[in-house]
Amino acid sequence: MAIIGIDLGTTNSLACVCQDGQIKLVPNALGQTLTPSVISIDENGDICVGAVAKERLVTHPSDTAASFKRYMGTEKTYMLAGRSFTPQELSSFVLRQLKEDAEHFLGEEVTEAVISVPAYFNDHQRYATREAGRLAGMRVERLVNEPSAAALAASRISRSGEGSYLIFDLGGGTLDVSVVDFFENVIEIIAVSGDNHLGGNDFDETIAHRFCEAVGIMYEELKENERASLLRMSERCKKELTSQKESVLTFGSEERTFTLTNMLLAESCQKLFDRISQAIKNVLRDSKRTINEIDEIVLVGGSSRMPVIFLFLQTFLGKSPCMIGSPDEIVAAGVGTYAGIKERKQEIRDLVLTDICPFTLGTNIVNHSDHERPIMSPIIERNSILPSSKTGYYTNAYDGQAHISIGVFQGESYYCEENVRLGNIEMDILPVRRGEAQIEVRFTYDINGILEVEVTDRYQNRTERVVVTCKTLRLSEQELKQRLQELNAYKLAPSGGIRTRLVLERGERLFAQLSGEERKEIAEVLQRIEESMREQNDQLIANRLREAEAIFDRLDDWKP
Ligand code: ADP
Ligand code: MG
Repeated sequence: MAIIGIDLGTTNSLACVCQDGQIKLVPNALGQTLTPSVISIDENGDICVGAVAKERLVTHPSDTAASFKRYMGTEKTYMLAGRSFTPQELSSFVLRQLKEDAEHFLGEEVTEAVISVPAYFNDHQRYATREAGRLAGMRVERLVNEPSAAALAASRISRSGEGSYLIFDLGGGTLDVSVVDFFENVIEIIAVSGDNHLGGNDFDETIAHRFCEAVGIMYEELKENERASLLRMSERCKKELTSQKESVLTFGSEERTFTLTNMLLAESCQKLFDRISQAIKNVLRDSKRTINEIDEIVLVGGSSRMPVIFLFLQTFLGKSPCMIGSPDEIVAAGVGTYAGIKERKQEIRDLVLTDICPFTLGTNIVNHSDHERPIMSPIIERNSILPSSKTGYYTNAYDGQAHISIGVFQGESYYCEENVRLGNIEMDILPVRRGEAQIEVRFTYDINGILEVEVTDRYQNRTERVVVTCKTLRLSEQELKQRLQELNAYKLAPSGGIRTRLVLERGERLFAQLSGEERKEIAEVLQRIEESMREQNDQLIANRLREAEAIFDRLDDWKP
């Protein structure tokens, strides 16, 4: 009966456990700690999660989904193999796979998970994340903000101890920069900022453009599959630059080459760096800190491995960031640490994770000059420390008003319509003269970012209370049970023979992307593997797989 920590990422997810007081990242069936957050339904109707599913993005796009974390807590649905799934249902498959991997690793059942979420995740997104956990058959009592988890891991792993941290998290598609204080066992997020559409993908695209320029082709004119392979190649080239001085890309059969160096990459990514510096300026301004008041700049997220990022931050901030182990594993290590603390209950009191509410929560008030456009009346201000409970006092708008409609809004805009509507409470009030009603609206925002709203009419002493739910976005207990049953009908694809599966899927993907002689070569490779499988000769299978991987590596070099 173990508790695991999970970093449920947009691009990659990881599970982490605390075993005999040691923090351990859970390897998946392929022996890797990172599992791509990609889901695919295969021919048997089974769910593939991770690397295998990622290959199927190209070959079976209509049965495969990625980046669904972006749409957590929204009404977007995905059609996969002719069935509709919500983002939290897709996430639940990732969680189920991680749970299974952890159970295999630990040799015991996992019943509970602590899951990390971006600090700016709103109520809906947090709720959806918990729902995903429950749909994966786990209890989720606690969500931990990603920067808090990173600060916790950084303080423990690097033994830098307590202090003020600047957490710089550059992932696959998002940038999150946060200032986090860790003093006297209290971890407190001071401010958050970032860019929701800036990540490793943008660097891949920049490299792809640069490459096209260098060899004289038009990026825009590439076919979709050509573009996909070029981006794949660009990503590989980007990764090579973390350990090599340069990376050489060969173009076509004429052997024209394009050499990318970190210098050239830095030059090409100027626009991206401008956006990064903006996010850092914002977070320092909001936290009212100067860089000198920051004790440690912590590099988090796979894209933070790039030397150009390190150099940029060093120059821009005049201070060296610190890289602790693998930046893409830090958040997971932090949630795992927290899960471990939670498991040994007695210690949990020692560590307090205080979170802030990254946006303002408020209600609507009448706009006397334009009744159609109610004005936002803030109740809990942005960057308030959680848990937070605040009351706003309101009255009726006209004589004899018998009904009020209290909207619950989130956002920083003056007009409610420009903010996000989280919910609504309708309530009958005692009809009295204008201005005489006494309506109290109490917002209680708990440590998990779940909002409870209480409206009281003092005259009647009547209270309406709701945990803010938006009916279309949330499942009732009954619906949840039913959905759980339906989802349980889907089996995770077996993890035995997963390497073979991955090679076969990759071969199919390359077959779809390439043509002519190369297709013939791929077909032969695939047939040789299938042959060895028929013979059930393990040694032969292993050899053929290795052979195939070498050939596929070569074919993955993009040639237009
Ligand atoms: P997320 O938090 O978005 O789920 P990660 O933190 O795992 O994602 O980061 C994924 C990104 O990190 C991808 O864009 C990937 O290309 C990039 N990445 C991973 N390893 C390296 C590396 N060695 N060098 C440069 N970028 C890398
Ligand atoms: Mg991440």
